[in-house]
Amino acid sequence: MRKFVIMGIQGSGKGTQAKLLADDLELEHVSVGDILRWNVQHHTKLGAQVKRIVASGLLVDDELVETVVQDRLALHDWNYGFIVDGFPRNVRQAEFFLESYDIDGVIDLVLPDTEVERRVLARRLCSGCGLDYNLIAHRPAIDDVCDVCASPLLVRADDNPEALAVRLREYHDKTTPVIELFQRKEVVASIDATGSVFDIQHEIRQRFSLPTPTLAGPPS
Ligand code: AMP
Repeated sequence: MRKFVIMGIQGSGKGTQAKLLADDLELEHVSVGDILRWNVQHHTKLGAQVKRIVASGLLVDDELVETVVQDRLALHDWNYGFIVDGFPRNVRQAEFFLESYDIDGVIDLVLPDTEVERRVLARRLCSGCGLDYNLIAHRPAIDDVCDVCASPLLVRADDNPEALAVRLREYHDKTTPVIELFQRKEVVASIDATGSVFDIQHEIRQRFSLPTPTLAGPPS
C-alpha cells in the first residue's frame, strides 16, 4: 500500500506526474480540482456551489473540499494506495488530512512563478477525454482539436492572467506553509519541475525508491 500527496504550484505538472505514477503503480489518482471541474461541467449541486470560486482562482471552502476528499477516499477502491493531488492547500486541510490518513511521502514540485505563467497560459484541456495539452510543449496535430478523441480543446476557466495572479498568491500565502508542516512531519521530496516529464518522473521514483520498469522512454 502506497499513499502519496503531490503538491506544486500551478503548471508544475502535478496532474501529469500523478497520472504516470497512478497508472503504473495502480494507485487511485484523487485530484480535487478534477472532481470540482467534473461537477461544474455536469451541473451538479456541488458544481453550482463552486463554479464562480474555481473560475476566480480562490480556494473553495475548507469543509466542502474536506468532504469531497473524505467521501472519495471512503470508497476504498484504492487496493494498492492513492495519490492525492491538489489537497491539502492550507494548514487546516493538512491537519484534517493527517488526522485521518498516514502518508508515505509528499512530492513537492518546485517551479518559479515566471515559468508558471508561461506554461499555464499555454494550457489547453480536451472537453471530451480530459487530456492535457500545452501549446509550448505538447501541441495537438490540428489546432484546438484533441488528437485522441477529436473533441474541441478548451482553456480552463481559471487559466487567465487575473485568476492566475490570485492562484499564485493563494499558493504562496496558504500552501507553502503546508509544505513546511509536512517537512516537519513527513517525508517531503522537493523536486525541480523545470525538467522534462520523464526526468521528473524518474527523480520522483528514485527519491521514494519506487520501481521504474514500465517507463518506456521520454514522453513528448
Ligand atoms: P487545481 O486543478 O488543483 O489547480 O484546482 C483548481 C481550483 O479548484 C483551485 O484554484 C480552487 O478553486 C479549487 N480547489 C482545488 N483543490 C482545492 C483545495 N484543496 N482547497 C480549496 N480549493 C481547491
